[in-house]
Amino acid sequence: MVELKEVELKKDKSVFGQISEYNHEKVVFCHDKETGLKAIIGIHNTVLGPALGGTRMWSYASEAEALDDVLRLSRGMTYKAAISGLNLGGGKAVIIGDAKKDKNEALLRRFGRFVKNLNGAYITAEDVGMTTKDMEYIRMETEHVSGLPESMGGGGDPSPVTAYGTYMGMKAAAKKAFGSDSLSGKKISVQGVGHVGGYLVELLAKENAQIFITDIYEDRLREVSAKYNAKIVGMDEIYDLDVDIYSPCALGGTINDNTLGRLKCQVIAGCANNQLRDETVHGPALVDKGIVYAPDFLINAGGLINVYSELHGYNRESAYAQTERIYGYTLDIFEMAEKEGMYTQLAATKMAEKRINSISKVRSTF
Ligand code: NAD
Repeated sequence: MVELKEVELKKDKSVFGQISEYNHEKVVFCHDKETGLKAIIGIHNTVLGPALGGTRMWSYASEAEALDDVLRLSRGMTYKAAISGLNLGGGKAVIIGDAKKDKNEALLRRFGRFVKNLNGAYITAEDVGMTTKDMEYIRMETEHVSGLPESMGGGGDPSPVTAYGTYMGMKAAAKKAFGSDSLSGKKISVQGVGHVGGYLVELLAKENAQIFITDIYEDRLREVSAKYNAKIVGMDEIYDLDVDIYSPCALGGTINDNTLGRLKCQVIAGCANNQLRDETVHGPALVDKGIVYAPDFLINAGGLINVYSELHGYNRESAYAQTERIYGYTLDIFEMAEKEGMYTQLAATKMAEKRINSISKVRSTF
């Protein structure tokens, strides 16, 4: 899985300072000496429903970095669920450790007990460093798990659905920028051809786009290039390409002070979380450059829609149908952003907050 280390520690590093800045409901620190478990569960907001979000296992450089990661990611889940019309809140968990060396059945099941003790306020799933097999261990201790293998009644790997939603968001952005949502002949660079990026390239190839790809893993690059006739480019070169669309599908924070001036695309639409290094700076800067930016948490929601579907008896068709609506939602956000003179990420955040605020009043009486 990908290294997501675009962590900017907050100025006020006190625990409650950070929790209060992001406005979390609950943050649980989980510790078990026997198994060496050190985990943090962040429950950001449960107004719309239980907080659902994956568990990430990562060798964080510090505990502060782990806390910052879980706080930012869980907040993002709140917005992702809200804007997608799901009755879910936002949560996320991080386990501090090396997924290749430190992960074992006992540690995962001990973590599962902590999830169980939250009585359904938090539902976990896969994230970086975790697999569907790991979810099976957690499931032995708690029913509050999604992203289970298909053999256990789950929806399996959510990546194809995430890719489909990203593709829908990209088409909506193309319509806004070029007047047509056809991607045929469009030059598109895809940064990261892992789980989601690989499926996205497949969809783009079907539409006869001209595809440029980059990744850390040479073997994977060669495989995707051969299968879909995509041109391989360097990891840094990708920012200088003369393309119509840039699709970040690897790291967060790739739109930053160093890359912004180099980008020549008219559209940015990808699946990576937290693409804007500093939303308040780089969101407006993209508007100034005339680049149409499809908000990340809106267009990468397909995976969440897929795991949400599991909670109600998994149905692949309805998960895809719901994911397809990302096209319309993205167009709505562009319209709102233009009308209200905001950058698109802010418009998406406001739209999500509006739904949370209005639904919070629905149950104010018996
Ligand atoms: P992945 O680990 O399978 O793929 C990421 C790929 O990016 C890997 O092949 C990796 O080698 C490559 N990569 C890492 N750093 C790179 C760099 N600097 N330049 C080029 N390539 C680089 O992960 P994934 O599941 O495909 O997820 C990709 C992104 O989408 C992540 O940011 C993830 O948080 C986000 N996301 C994924 C899902 C999902 O359903 N999997 C859902 C929502 C969001």
